[in-house]
Amino acid sequence: MTDVEILSAADGDAMQAFAAAGQFYKGNLHTHSNRSDGALEPEEVCARYRARGYDFIALTDHFIGAYGYPITDTLPYRTNAFTTVLGAEVHTGKMANGELWHLLAVGLPPEFAPPHAPGFSPVDGAESAAGLTRRAVAAGAFVAIAHPQWSGLTLEDAMEIDAAHAVEIYNHGCAVDSDRPDGTAMLDLLLSNGRRLTACATDDAHDIDRDAFGGWVQVKSESLAPEALVAALRNGDYYASQGPVLTEGRINAEMLTLVAEKSGAPMDRLVLMGPGSASAVAYADQFEEREGKIVARIPLGRCADTPWLRASLIDIEGRRAWTNPIWR
Ligand SMILES: [Zn+2]
Ligand SMILES: [Zn+2]
Repeated sequence: MTDVEILSAADGDAMQAFAAAGQFYKGNLHTHSNRSDGALEPEEVCARYRARGYDFIALTDHFIGAYGYPITDTLPYRTNAFTTVLGAEVHTGKMANGELWHLLAVGLPPEFAPPHAPGFSPVDGAESAAGLTRRAVAAGAFVAIAHPQWSGLTLEDAMEIDAAHAVEIYNHGCAVDSDRPDGTAMLDLLLSNGRRLTACATDDAHDIDRDAFGGWVQVKSESLAPEALVAALRNGDYYASQGPVLTEGRINAEMLTLVAEKSGAPMDRLVLMGPGSASAVAYADQFEEREGKIVARIPLGRCADTPWLRASLIDIEGRRAWTNPIWR
């Protein structure tokens, strides 16, 4: 937003999402309709997110032959204040556990050529997941490794996907229906293996009444145009959240500082994470309040000299905002 900035250059360099021009737009990147295995019509899915205050969604039906390889047309449901990004959850190949790959591709052209993925079971001779990812990225998409914990993904599996932009750090549908929402473990191992990935939270909603509105991204962009949103996602100009609303973030040699809106549940703590067991925590009784906002500072501690670090701001109900990883 364009309100007064609380932090200054003395607090260090602005972190990427906060340094970018424009304003934050809230969106869900992973959603299903009845064009694949979701419950509702695409129009109804868009209407529900719009009514909930989202600025955009990507409707990402399963891109398999059984559903006619849908890249669901959501263009009719765009308004001046709400947009949609074309995309799909794409599938191919086989993970080490013998199951089909799931990859989230946001910003696909409607004519994107299908892989050979007739159903949810792997078939011989299919395109590799790495190849399909490269093709989706070349076609302009933002690609995330979907729900690694739900998939039972191994690090070796994930390291094959060399063109992906992100990992789903939290998948709300997987939290609801299998209690396996986590992407932090896989993301951190990939970062420690040199992969410069960002961290998105998604709904993966199939039935809006049960599994929606739990994880989203706030994308910093100069406009709500779908192309601008996808470019910002590809560039890492975003953060992920389940609740906390961030307005600023800066880092210097000693300290990381986040500014959050005071709306919503009170904050509990700010945590830093780096490679291996490196971490640090600051509790909310050390935060200050300025201009009606929460200023959360944390000394870098064990993360002072690490190649990468990232931060989670956590409220008293356990809801998080996750910064993208910062590389030094
Ligand atoms: Zn999936
Ligand atoms: Zn999905």
